[in-house]
Amino acid sequence: SFKAILVSRDADKNQSAGIVELTDADLMDGDVMVAVEATTVNYKDGLAITGKAPVVRRWPLVPGIDLAGTVISSDNPSWQIGDGVILNGWGVGEAHHGAYAQRARVKGDWLVPMPASLTSRDAMAVGTAGYTAMLCVLALERHGIEPERGPVLVTGAAGGVGTIAISLLSDLGYHVIASTGRPDEAEFLHQLGATEIIERSELEQPGKPLGKERWAGAIDTVGSHTLANALAMTAYGGAVAACGLAGGMDLPSSVAPFILRGVSLLGIDSVMAPREIRLEAWRRIASDLNRDKLASLTTDIGFDQIISAARDILDGKVRGRLVVNMA
Ligand code: NAP
Repeated sequence: SFKAILVSRDADKNQSAGIVELTDADLMDGDVMVAVEATTVNYKDGLAITGKAPVVRRWPLVPGIDLAGTVISSDNPSWQIGDGVILNGWGVGEAHHGAYAQRARVKGDWLVPMPASLTSRDAMAVGTAGYTAMLCVLALERHGIEPERGPVLVTGAAGGVGTIAISLLSDLGYHVIASTGRPDEAEFLHQLGATEIIERSELEQPGKPLGKERWAGAIDTVGSHTLANALAMTAYGGAVAACGLAGGMDLPSSVAPFILRGVSLLGIDSVMAPREIRLEAWRRIASDLNRDKLASLTTDIGFDQIISAARDILDGKVRGRLVVNMA
């Protein structure tokens, strides 16, 4: 048997999470068995464990949307025993037993190969948050937002997506403007490569349909008024990659940035992203992400701390990324 976190519901649909022992027979269908070596806690894992949003769609469920490990058995011709693999998304930790167990039985089609230069721990320090930050960078690049075009805004800067987005963008030569509600983290954000820091409160109030043109692009993890203001202050022809809702699911904006400045809103989804894009993102992470910066934004926690970390991340108390050693 092996240890796992299980979220359950009682007859009144009250949710609880606890640590249990499972066996292989408890796992769901799949053609590859992975020995999970590392996982992490993302914002979405926080929502799943606390039940604050309907992320879990099957009960009881092992949560955890992100895992890295080694194949220990496979009926899938693409994967052999001993292969290092990463899994993000595809409903794992939502409708299929996820990462918070020492074994995962999954579909081989969901896996991507571990890049040669990364360990399981590195891959989970990046995790869904870092892979999504890379998807945002790739979307801005595809839209032609090069460093010469002007600054790029990153909102939710001290969080997982934010810290990795800052690290990637600054090493690629962008002038990064970081928006944070944690001014104590300004020095840390400068070390990751942010050139300017602005207060979260500057962007979270209702704003005008158009403002001064302050950035060529943006990566937004917050949504709501913050995203509306990011759009309103994007320079002519610029683009905003929207991936998050830490400040709200709504978008109280107008069409003004789109029809008067030709600004584009680029939607970013990591969960169902096609395989080709995932492979490109992980290739670029392996080649572009500065390992010293990754180490400085990562905190190791134990398996027993996952449930409390789930609450902390929703409270905006987690800095950067968390890694959990599962071996
Ligand atoms: P995280 O580590 O908690 O980062 C979120 C950051 O947002 C916080 O660190 C905080 O940054 C800021 N924030 C928190 N609450 C806020 C509020 N009420 N108003 C304004 N800002 C607030 O979470 P994450 O794992 O990086 O994920 C960030 C967001 O992206 C989440 O909404 C997540 O669901 C989403 N996401 C989406 C995808 C996708 O596929 N589209 C993939 C990954 C993540 P400061 O303290 O610096 O202000």
